[in-house]
Amino acid sequence: MTYYYPTRRRYCSHCGQLFTPKYANLKLCYPCYVKRDKALDAYDVLLAEVSSLRRQLIVANRNQRRTTTAPDAPDKQTLRWMIQQLHPDKHTNADYSTAAVQWLNGLRNQRR
Ligand SMILES: [Zn+2]
Repeated sequence: MTYYYPTRRRYCSHCGQLFTPKYANLKLCYPCYVKRDKALDAYDVLLAEVSSLRRQLIVANRNQRRTTTAPDAPDKQTLRWMIQQLHPDKHTNADYSTAAVQWLNGLRNQRR
């Protein structure tokens, strides 16, 4: 149930026009009230859009990071196999073996 309070005429706090408020706590005339309501709706729509775009940006950045780091790198399993095969322990600590494993470890760390 809504109560109707006949109140005195007052000046709209936005446009300054005299109006008769329907409720005692109203500070805006009806046209200004409607304008403000539409503006608030538009603001909500913009907030939702900003939030959606932010989420899309996060996903896009994540996907870009995934694809731009070593796109031609072998998959995880193959990398692990290569590291095992080239491990310096199996190659009497040869320099080529150390260098190759370091490079492969770098690739593996980029993919994480
Ligand atoms: Zn007004």
